Amino acid sequence: MSVTDITQLKQQQKEIEAKNELIFTLLRYLPYPIVAFKEDGVICFYNDFFVREICPFEVENGRTTIEEIKRAIALPANLLYPEHKGKEITEITVKHSKNTRHYRLEQFRIGEFGTESCRILWSFQNITAYHKLIHSLKKELHRDFLTGLYNRRGMEEILPVEWRRAQREKTSLAFLMLDIDFFKNYNDSLGHAAGDQCLQLVAEVLRGACYRPGDFIFRYGGEEFFILLTNTSKEGALIVANRIQDNLEKKAIPHPASKISSYVTVSIGMSVPDVNVESWKEGVKQADVALYQAKQNGRKRIEVFQG
Ligand code: GH3
Ligand code: MG
Ligand code: MG
Repeated sequence: MSVTDITQLKQQQKEIEAKNELIFTLLRYLPYPIVAFKEDGVICFYNDFFVREICPFEVENGRTTIEEIKRAIALPANLLYPEHKGKEITEITVKHSKNTRHYRLEQFRIGEFGTESCRILWSFQNITAYHKLIHSLKKELHRDFLTGLYNRRGMEEILPVEWRRAQREKTSLAFLMLDIDFFKNYNDSLGHAAGDQCLQLVAEVLRGACYRPGDFIFRYGGEEFFILLTNTSKEGALIVANRIQDNLEKKAIPHPASKISSYVTVSIGMSVPDVNVESWKEGVKQADVALYQAKQNGRKRIEVFQG
């Protein structure tokens, strides 16, 4: 009969168990969602934050699978495979009845620990505040501070998208380029502050004359504005251009230094470019050419680009 002293072995096992206990406790109380899976993708660990913030259904250790979680949080199936060996990062959006939260989700592999052999760990970092900030900064970036209209940057963003949409849906786009008449004289006689106020009033008139959600108004330059009318024919665009002229006349903003009126007036150039053969930049140039003609022909008028 041989006797083996396993006191040391027992002691080591105890230490390992104590270490695992500590790791699980730490993970459980981490202030962000955590979930771990075994090699076969079955859940072996999750914390309270995961249940509260991420998973919309009841999870069960040893039962719920990685695939079920992926479906529940609308994660594309080709992301975060259990078989993926390296670290993987993606962003997810979780919609709860009241609010929407954004998370940075990291998947990494861990060495075997615990009796459950957890191998794949997902940790979630809440980046909602960062998302909101980026969203509002982006919005600001596309707006003109003085008038609240879209700026040139917004134009570069919106026009290509609408141009492609018009190509796909076989609809027409109308472009209007507007310029305030004798605005230099206005500034010279009333001052820059009044000039700025005038720009705001004209912007108001433009907003009031464009009814549809698909109408976009931009401050193109100093006293120049650009309007994109989606799904609109030449006839429709002429109605809008005439409405702008009428509404501006009704607004009757005094202009003491205009050579053609006692009130502020605008000249308008219009183009209805062929979205299948031209580029949106070409369309803008055409509207600009028509605007130049409107200026040449006496101002306070609408000219249509003739190709
Ligand atoms: P036209 O009828 O040919 O368009 O004459 P105009 O005087 O309007 O044209 P011009 O391009 O010679 O002058 C534009 C003037 O617009 C120059 C400047 O005094 C004024 N302006 C441009 N941007 C701003 C702005 O942000 N604020 C103010 N107050 N004035 C501006
Ligand atoms: Mg100008
Ligand atoms: Mg001008």
